[in-house]
Amino acid sequence: MRIGHGYDVHKLVKERNLIIGGCKINYPLGLLGHSDADVLVHAIIDSLLGAAALCDIGNLFPDNDPNYKDANSLTLLKVVCEMIYNEGYSISNIDCTIIAQEPKLTHYIKFMQSNIANACNINESQINIKATTEEHLGFTGSLQGISAHAVCLLN
Ligand code: ZN
Repeated sequence: MRIGHGYDVHKLVKERNLIIGGCKINYPLGLLGHSDADVLVHAIIDSLLGAAALCDIGNLFPDNDPNYKDANSLTLLKVVCEMIYNEGYSISNIDCTIIAQEPKLTHYIKFMQSNIANACNINESQINIKATTEEHLGFTGSLQGISAHAVCLLN
């Protein structure tokens, strides 16, 4: 068994869609990034790459590569899962936490889990997503950005 950890942050700005876990969230601000800036999926990708010792997302999908401009991160996750499966690993489970002061994400969690399970070709019971706030503290608390952590176990 191999464990992996991923962490990602994106800045909240005007005039961007807020995409988290492949869901378009109804909110006036969005995350800034070269791709769709899906902070949760990026953390998951880094946890999977970390567990398989395959470097990281920035190495695999450089943010100066026009191919990945506005890329759907779920598509990138699919590519990463294929790499992991080709190495002979399977995903035991993925657990993640989104840290956002706003908006409330409760109603989106089920859809995020379904999107990620589909991209990874795993059951929804193998992926758990939690959302929390930092009680108005720090950069997430002051709405400057949203962060996400993910851990996974490969076997
Ligand atoms: Zn990212």
